[in-house]
Amino acid sequence: MKEIFLLKLGEIVLKGANKRQFESRLRQNVRRRMKKFGEFDVYIMQSTVYVEPKDELADVDGAWEACRTIFGVVSLCRCRPCEKNLDAIFEAIENYLGDDLDCAKSFKVESKRSDKAFPMTSIQLSQEIGGRLAEAHPGVAVDVHHPDYTVYVEVRDFAAYVHGPAEPGAGGLPTGVGGRAMCLLSGGIDSPVAAYMIAKRGVEIEAVHFFSYPYTSQLAKDKVVELARLVAKYSGKMTVNVVPFTEIQEAIRDNCPEEYFTLVMRRFMMEISQRIARHDGCGALITGENLGQVASQTMEAMTVTGAVVDMPIFMPLVGMDKEEIVTIARKIGTLETSILPYEDCCTVFTPKHPKTKPTLGQLLNAEKNLDREALMERALAGVEKIKVAGDDEALL
Ligand code: ATP
Ligand code: MG
Repeated sequence: MKEIFLLKLGEIVLKGANKRQFESRLRQNVRRRMKKFGEFDVYIMQSTVYVEPKDELADVDGAWEACRTIFGVVSLCRCRPCEKNLDAIFEAIENYLGDDLDCAKSFKVESKRSDKAFPMTSIQLSQEIGGRLAEAHPGVAVDVHHPDYTVYVEVRDFAAYVHGPAEPGAGGLPTGVGGRAMCLLSGGIDSPVAAYMIAKRGVEIEAVHFFSYPYTSQLAKDKVVELARLVAKYSGKMTVNVVPFTEIQEAIRDNCPEEYFTLVMRRFMMEISQRIARHDGCGALITGENLGQVASQTMEAMTVTGAVVDMPIFMPLVGMDKEEIVTIARKIGTLETSILPYEDCCTVFTPKHPKTKPTLGQLLNAEKNLDREALMERALAGVEKIKVAGDDEALL
C-alpha cells in the first residue's frame, strides 16, 4: 500500500480567526511545490496536511525533500495508511517499520485517536499493538520511558496511519501570509540568512543587489543570483533587481569626504531599495546588519542610513553572534556560496577611518555636492530584473 506524508501545522494552529486563511495558503503552497514530483492529493484535516501520491509514478523522495523546506510545517513524517482495525495496524507496522524496529534496542508504541468512534482508547491500542510487536521481535525490549525507537499509530477519520519518529519541519508561517519585503542582498554570509529568517515568518521575498561593474565582476553578480536561488528554495521564486551602482560610487569618491563614503553609499542603497520596493508591492526592507559588526553598523550609523526611508527596516540578525549566523547559513545551504571569494561593492571604496558616530547634519553636509536625485533616477533606469526559483518550482 502506498506511502503518504503527514505535515503537522505549527503556529497556524494558534491563529484563531485567520486559521482558515493560513491553512488555505499552506495547502496552496504545498500543492504548488508538489507539482514537479507528480500527481498528489493535498488536503488539510485536524491541523495536519495530508500529501498523498495519486499513483506509482510520483517521485516520492523528491516530494519529501521539498516538504522539508515548506514554511508553516512544524514537523513531518512519512507514513503508511491502513484500515482501522488491530490486525491491519499490526500488519502495516510489520511491513513498513519492521526493519527499523529490528535495528533498535528498545521500543514503545504511542497512539493517538482523533476518531473518537474507534472502540479502544489510545492506551489500550498502544498496549495491544506493543504486546504483539514484542512477541514478533523478541530481541527488542519494551521500554516506555526511554525507548530507542517509537512506533506511532494515529487513528484518524478515514484511516489509521503508522509511522516512525517525525522529523522537524521548516517551521515559521506559510509563505504569503505576511506580505512581501525587499531584501538588500550582498554576496556575504549575512543577508541571505536575513532573507531566509523573514521569509520564515510568512513573507514573500524580493531582492535588490547593487552592482559596481567593473569594480566588482560578473562572477560576483552570479554569486548573488545563486544565493537568491538558494533562498528561493524556501521562500518561493523571487526577482533580483540588479542596480548599476558604479556611477554613484564614483560620484561619492569624487565629491564626498572619505570618512563618510560608506554611509553616503548606504543611504543611496536604502533609498533606491525603497523605491523599487514600493514599485514591486513590498512593505518593508530587509538587511543583514548586525550591531557592532562593522563601522557602519553602530546605532548612530543605522540612524543616518535609516533616515532616508520610511518603510520598516527588518534586521533579523541585529542581535546575533557571527557563529549563530554561520550555523543558520550552513543549515539552509547558503554558506558555501557566500564564502566564495568575490568582492562586494562595499569593499571597493572603503574609507581608512570610517565615521562610527555620525550625525544626520554631517551626512547632509557630506552629500551637498551630489545631485542625489539625478543619480538615483539614472540607477533606477538601468535596473536589470533577474527571476530566480528554487529547484522544484517553475520560473514563470
Ligand atoms: P553581508 O554578509 O550580508 O554582506 P556584511 O556583514 O558584509 O553583510 P555590510 O557589508 O555592512 O555587512 O552590509 C550590511 C547589509 O547591507 C548587508 O547585509 C546587505 O543587506 C546590505 N548590502 C551590502 N552590500 C550590498 C550590495 N552590494 N547590494 C545589496 N545589499 C547590500
Ligand atoms: Mg557585505
